Amino acid sequence: MTDSTDGTVVLGAGLTGLSFAFHYGTGTPIYERESEPGGLVRSLLVRGCSFDLAPHLLHLRSEYVRKLVFETLGLEAAQVERKARIYCDGRLISYPFELNLHGLSEQMREDCLRGLDTIAPHGPEHDAELRTGSYEDYALNTFGAGISRHYLLPYNRKIWDTPPRDMTCEWMRFLPAADAGKIRRSAYAPSDEAFGYNSAFYYPRRRGIRELPDAFAQRLPNIHFNKEVVRIQTTERCVHFSDGTSVHYEKLISTLPLNRLVALSDLPQSAQRAADLLEYTTVYTINMVVRGAVPEGVHWIYFPDPEYTFYRISLPKNFFPRATPGDEQILAVEVGCRRDGHDWSALVSRVERQVRDLGVFDLDGHCFTHCEKLPVAYCIYDKQRTPVSTALLHQLASLGIYSTGRYGTWEYSAMEDAILHGKTLAESLRAGG
Ligand SMILES: Cc1cc2nc3c(=O)[nH]c(=O)nc-3n(C[C@H](O)[C@H](O)[C@H](O)COP(=O)(O)OP(=O)(O)OC[C@H]3O[C@@H](n4cnc5c(N)ncnc54)[C@H](O)[C@@H]3O)c2cc1C
Repeated sequence: MTDSTDGTVVLGAGLTGLSFAFHYGTGTPIYERESEPGGLVRSLLVRGCSFDLAPHLLHLRSEYVRKLVFETLGLEAAQVERKARIYCDGRLISYPFELNLHGLSEQMREDCLRGLDTIAPHGPEHDAELRTGSYEDYALNTFGAGISRHYLLPYNRKIWDTPPRDMTCEWMRFLPAADAGKIRRSAYAPSDEAFGYNSAFYYPRRRGIRELPDAFAQRLPNIHFNKEVVRIQTTERCVHFSDGTSVHYEKLISTLPLNRLVALSDLPQSAQRAADLLEYTTVYTINMVVRGAVPEGVHWIYFPDPEYTFYRISLPKNFFPRATPGDEQILAVEVGCRRDGHDWSALVSRVERQVRDLGVFDLDGHCFTHCEKLPVAYCIYDKQRTPVSTALLHQLASLGIYSTGRYGTWEYSAMEDAILHGKTLAESLRAGG
């Protein structure tokens, strides 16, 4: 890695910005609004408890990233076999829903199987074609009405806070095609728990997920913290910060949310109007520190039922023993909403009440609640998303501004992808691309 003295400037010290600088030149300057690196991948220590901003588990498909993380950066992490559950039909069933129909009540199971019988037979080769329509059509045509109605549609409506008929299927790139034979067999016998690429995950052993960005940041001497970008002049190629300072660039690597980047820039009104069309959810993580019994060894539980405000509860103590100092458990409850519509304190009270009344946890003490808000969490794949983001990315690149990462490209992706985004862009620019 070499120092960058070519006028390349990075905005944001999340995993994408860190990975870019690591691969482009470790001296590349990074400007970050917060006082520490990591972006969304941070863990906070509060009253002896470790809270991720939202629980973050490291799934690895790329051999390159595996070697980088464990060998080059020396991250020490436990490998954990996923144990995920879905609360449905008044009981906990194993994830994924469609391969664990045996766990449902007879009535719901029959409903799911009937739905499967009514769809036109199709092989995995038809999957790409089925994915060209709305997510609702995809679910109904590949899994049938029962599985769709009991799980896929309500769960996805909740996490994206968007009607599934208004969503495309572009976010599903890593989800395997439906296999009707396997689904039918699962009605009578448990399937293999190891399903999909994320059947196992890694989690750092000592200080929470923040260890991953920290390992990058230790190798990058040119990160400037408490530098909030407030204005970007694209003709002068100048970034202004809230403390009154500014920096000139030749090439600007931005990992800010794409809509925010455009709003901070002097791009014309047409671009500003287009950026306003990009929809997203805000996620609230409501961490309840409790005493009592929780489902043994379970890492997280999905909640498709619209009766509950939250879409997922994670149990970090079950994969990170140091999450609390004693025998307390953390229930990390996630709620998502389009834009930012919730009354914060009413939301927390409602969630706490629903969690207590669920019947899933046998609580005998509630120590305290710690909340975090992720203002831009899930970028929504509606019909506008791809044409709008593609046009904006081209417009920005023509001005020497490279918008990258999960929020810079407005996509649904994971930490591993953030690392690869940074690497790919660094290599492309180094090669003169
Ligand atoms: C609820 C939730 C759960 C997730 N769980 C997982 C998981 O389990 N596993 C997984 O692999 N991935 C998970 N992810 C995805 C993961 O968080 C992202 O892929 C990754 O954090 C993206 O990194 P980034 O650097 O592109 O963006 P960010 O982390 O958002 O980094 C952008 C940086 O820009 C800075 N910034 C913003 N505005 C300004 C400004 N005006 N001036 C200066 N700096 C600014 C921010 O402070 C931030 O540091 C999850 C995401 C969410 C929302």
